[in-house]
Amino acid sequence: MEPLKQENRVFNPPADFVKGAAIPGMDAYKKLCAEAEKDYDGFWGHLAKENIYWKKPFTKVLDESKAPFYKWFEDGTTNASYNCLDRQVEAGLGDKTAIIFEADDGTVTKVSYKEMLERVCKMANALRKMGIKSGDTVIIYMAMTIEGIVAMQACARIGAIHSVVFGGFSAQALRDRIIDVGAVAVITADGQYRGGKSLPLKAICDEALSTGECGKVKHVIVSKRTGTAIEMKAGRDVWMQDIVANEAATCEPEWVSAEHPLFILYTSGSTGKPKGVQHSTGGYLLWAILTMKWTFDIKPTDVFWCTADIGWVTGHSYITYGPLAVGATEIVFEGVPTYPNAGRFWDMIQKHKATIFYTAPTAIRSLIKASSNDQAVHPKSYDLSSLRLLGSVGEPINPEAWMWYYENVGGSRCPIADTFWQTETGGHMISPLPGATPMIPGSCTLPLPGIQAAIVDEAGHDVPNGNGGILVVKRPWPSMIRTIWNDPDRFVKSYFPEELGGNLYLAGDGAIRNKETGYFTITGRIDDVLNVSGHRMGTMEIESCLVANPLVAEAAVVGRPDDLTGEAICVFVVLKGGRPTGEDAKKVATELRNWVGKEIGPIAKPKDVRFGDNLPKTRSGKIMRRLLRVIAKGEEVTQDTSTLENPAILEQLKESL
Ligand code: ATP
Ligand code: MG
Repeated sequence: MEPLKQENRVFNPPADFVKGAAIPGMDAYKKLCAEAEKDYDGFWGHLAKENIYWKKPFTKVLDESKAPFYKWFEDGTTNASYNCLDRQVEAGLGDKTAIIFEADDGTVTKVSYKEMLERVCKMANALRKMGIKSGDTVIIYMAMTIEGIVAMQACARIGAIHSVVFGGFSAQALRDRIIDVGAVAVITADGQYRGGKSLPLKAICDEALSTGECGKVKHVIVSKRTGTAIEMKAGRDVWMQDIVANEAATCEPEWVSAEHPLFILYTSGSTGKPKGVQHSTGGYLLWAILTMKWTFDIKPTDVFWCTADIGWVTGHSYITYGPLAVGATEIVFEGVPTYPNAGRFWDMIQKHKATIFYTAPTAIRSLIKASSNDQAVHPKSYDLSSLRLLGSVGEPINPEAWMWYYENVGGSRCPIADTFWQTETGGHMISPLPGATPMIPGSCTLPLPGIQAAIVDEAGHDVPNGNGGILVVKRPWPSMIRTIWNDPDRFVKSYFPEELGGNLYLAGDGAIRNKETGYFTITGRIDDVLNVSGHRMGTMEIESCLVANPLVAEAAVVGRPDDLTGEAICVFVVLKGGRPTGEDAKKVATELRNWVGKEIGPIAKPKDVRFGDNLPKTRSGKIMRRLLRVIAKGEEVTQDTSTLENPAILEQLKESL
């Protein structure tokens, strides 16, 4: 697979950013990489000692004896909640604001580190009193609230393994996860506010628990949020506010092995049935801390805002654990980017003087669309001068979306950390470092120090820069997935497949490295590679070309079997101006076909162009191309759609012009 087109725009980190940066300049970056290269154990061991409080220090860094079930810092003991909260209070940050919570309706609540510690301790004591102990699994089914973070931290404090289920999931999806993790308790809320609406949580929980397969669940803890009338089952259900009321505000943490599971989290389901990813305590926390420092260059004065939900790994690493473990002030937002209007993010950055803003390409694309004909919600209509750094995560960011973000949100002054990573990796893997790496729109640039990312062919052999291939990681790293919960065989098969030699971590994404710079660009999921007349192409390049057309807000590209060319390109497009029909649609389709032909080349010209009001997305906002492939073929969707956000859109996209 070779790139069809070269992106040549380069943006250097601003000089005054470099001056104060944690990793100031490429030489500093290369020095760290060289240290890891020279003495891998020494590099990680030193960082782990420096960044984490160990109750009992570890004596061995990495144990590879049962590979690929790697173990890090195993005989050391620590506690994630202690590292996030007690440590800050002990360092004199007790009165510092840990969380600026903005509710859906705009109400703002600030919580200091001291208050956060007390709330977590009370909840941890209450959980212990109910008999929940270290190693038990607890499902958390809550929205973006302070209580959600308290619940996660309280589990961590007593060694219980949490598994957060996004508050938008159905009863069935929730039930599957409750059963799969073997939960003994569920922590939820009566309801949640989203976009001006009050939505149920407890009622869905009751439905999930109604079948008897969830028999291990002995307790349901309900946080009062919306005041919605709900049923409380005697002997099982209690109010979170009641059980913490009389608890002590201190709680001795459970000192666990670094390898003790901190949480289980299900992947987004973009490529298939979600996998229950198990993470460790020590290695996971180390990487959450280091990436806060390296990628986000976090400083004591920063106001950090990650817009993810605690239901996704981004919310775990960059809301619940990372920012608190480095003593930062962070914004936690309950609502949605489009309520009360599509200027909500910009309004909040202005109001809270956010300095670091981390969001997803899907949000950026939708806000580009919303502001394309409404100046009032355009970022330029707000004072965003507090920002000094931007981030992107979740999907490849199209170069044109990158440019818009850079210019309109970052005022052409803020570096963008395009962070490539996965639920399985625990934290960032490939990303520009804001004070070091020259940026190229659409490229996640270079691996973080210590991360041995590479591109190989289907037999696991290195491919030269300039040729596309399969993205792998060659050595274990501290925050990597430990196993798939209840399914170690699937873990080995999915991530360390025999075909690649059994010792390379397979990310599942295709990528290409630039010949000159060595920069990585993600070309799309491995399963999505197109083969047209023998030319192998990534989906990303054609999608980005379409998004660069002024009419287009979003695009997804898939292949469809074709007698003549082996595979034909089928594109699904969302226009900024809404869905065209009839002759209009035909006209735009021809225009877009010619556009791709001109910009990339005739080989990439789509055969089939379809329009929708939206694209099928996971609840974390990722395009589900696997469903589009089925639709492009004209078949019925029979795959797992448990994480599909908008099933109704499928019908619309069946319509070919
Ligand atoms: P599933 O594994 O269930 O199919 P998923 O892969 O979407 O779902 P996540 O772990 O949430 O689940 O997402 C990780 C994936 O997101 C990566 O493998 C990659 O495809 C994509 N991704 C995340 N960040 C970036 C980025 N900055 N650039 C390109 N792709 C990214
Ligand atoms: Mg995945």
